[in-house]
Amino acid sequence: MAKKQFKAESKRLLELMIHSIYTHKEIFLREIVSNASDALDKLAYLSLTDDKVGMSRSDFGIEIKLDQGARTITVTDNGIGMTKEELESNLGVIARSGSLQFKKEMEQSSSGENMDIIGQFGVGFYSAFMVSDEVTVTSRAYGSDEAWRWKSAGADGYTVEESRKDTVGTEIVMKLKEDTEEEQYGRFLDAHEISALVKKYSDYIRYPIRMEMVKHRRKDKAEGTAENAAPEWETYMETETLNSMVPIWQRPKSEVSDEEYRSFYKEKFMDYEDPAAVITVSAEGAVTYKALLFVPARAPFDFYTREFEKGLQLYSSGVLIMDKCPELLPDHFRFVRGVVDSQDLSLNISREMLQHTRGLKVISANLEKKIKAELRKLLENDRPGYERFWKAFGLQIKYGIAAEYGAHKDLLRDLLLFYSSAEEKYATLAEYVSRMKEDQKYIYYAAGDNVARLGKLPQTERLLEKGYEILYLTDEVDEFVVQILGKVEEKELKSVNDDNAVPESKEEQEKHDKQIEENRGLLDFVKETLGDKIKEARVSRKLKSHAVCMTADGPVSLEMEKYFRSLPD
Ligand code: ADP
Ligand code: MG
Repeated sequence: MAKKQFKAESKRLLELMIHSIYTHKEIFLREIVSNASDALDKLAYLSLTDDKVGMSRSDFGIEIKLDQGARTITVTDNGIGMTKEELESNLGVIARSGSLQFKKEMEQSSSGENMDIIGQFGVGFYSAFMVSDEVTVTSRAYGSDEAWRWKSAGADGYTVEESRKDTVGTEIVMKLKEDTEEEQYGRFLDAHEISALVKKYSDYIRYPIRMEMVKHRRKDKAEGTAENAAPEWETYMETETLNSMVPIWQRPKSEVSDEEYRSFYKEKFMDYEDPAAVITVSAEGAVTYKALLFVPARAPFDFYTREFEKGLQLYSSGVLIMDKCPELLPDHFRFVRGVVDSQDLSLNISREMLQHTRGLKVISANLEKKIKAELRKLLENDRPGYERFWKAFGLQIKYGIAAEYGAHKDLLRDLLLFYSSAEEKYATLAEYVSRMKEDQKYIYYAAGDNVARLGKLPQTERLLEKGYEILYLTDEVDEFVVQILGKVEEKELKSVNDDNAVPESKEEQEKHDKQIEENRGLLDFVKETLGDKIKEARVSRKLKSHAVCMTADGPVSLEMEKYFRSLPD
């Protein structure tokens, strides 16, 4: 049979898997089981809206079989299955989120670090090749009576041929390698080892993962055996369900360890860092639901691009209905990942209808409050942690303030951090206000490219000398933010460029007026020389040791003008 070739990208990933010296090869099982669970989700969902499926939740499951003689491990599911075309396109190309991200990271880091990343991403189906010489996938798609068999022994290609299968679903046979020490000892052929791996990685899978286990029991005493004869043991086989099945978000918070939450997050959302915050919600009332949310510690590589899709996974009584439900998250918290599970949402509802469901609005409003509260908690209890969060997602919070004419400013204001001249570190607006001098009227800010330059701005000298603190704004959106905020705790935000930024005493004012009189000639000369390049030359009230400074005409700084000019028409 003619071999088909893998696409170039897939081949590279595959080769990496085959030659992997990665020590946590065990994650292949998690990947294969999670694919089976995804396939079950798909059919379970279909069965709710389509009577023809003729199956109910309890009929779905995953089975693992070990064959020491043949050195195979087989994972079978009765999920949605794959057609011939799907076998080819799904297993022959890496277009999957997890694998794709993995590949990107792999290309960015130098080769030595690659191996460590393998376990952290959902590397997917190809991870089977870390432990197998040959992988055979036999599948029958729901609604079809044909079955097809995909087979590959590695990077040199795969075959697809017609096959037979009585039931809908997928069977994956992995022929284990023998060439490494670990595999010689048959670690992955040991039922107890496999059982432990399922508990470790796949315990929250909502379908039973069953395996036949060897058991021992005492034999009943045969007739006529002496009372005190040594007991005889017999072995027998029994099918066991290996996972506890209850999703982690359904378990009471008191029974779940922080470590469990963290590893759940990392597996489910393909991050290799612990989350910055974990939020659990258990709500009863108008809408009953459970939510488990995470604030990532760093922004995904595509976070500030159009490609990034916000949203939470939405389950209805444990069945996944939407992978990224955007209605559950406001834009300013779009970095949050997580799961919402509610029995009050009807399953056979269309996506369009779902958007208008009141229940969803109630949940999302509630989650917004919880997220806000959790971020405040982080700010108060773990400042370095919050500052890390801020570096990753602060920009998003600022966009949130600038958006919709400031509709969310009251919610978001006290999450803001700005770099401050005081002690040269981040400050909240409340901290700034609490440190204001008695005679200080305004909250001062200077906007520009970078903090170092702003500190040297001529306009800042007198203010700093008076002991006033200045916020250094370096993001383009910052000036919109201060304009939308307007005031904080009754204190007006004022640019250091503002002519009235520095309060003047009567004497200072008189001195200033005199200066204007005395320098009329000079000012006229400057204006004449520069002509249209400037609007006017004035005596500044803001300067101390510097001779001149440039100021924009109006409330907007030169920096912001530059920004506006850079925008396409
Ligand atoms: P991902 O799970 O991130 O999509 P994988 O590499 O793990 O990527 O799997 C690739 C694709 O192969 C899946 O998206 C799915 O379409 C298909 N697939 C894998 N295993 C199964 C299975 N047991 N049943 C049905 N489809 C499967
Ligand atoms: Mg997968």
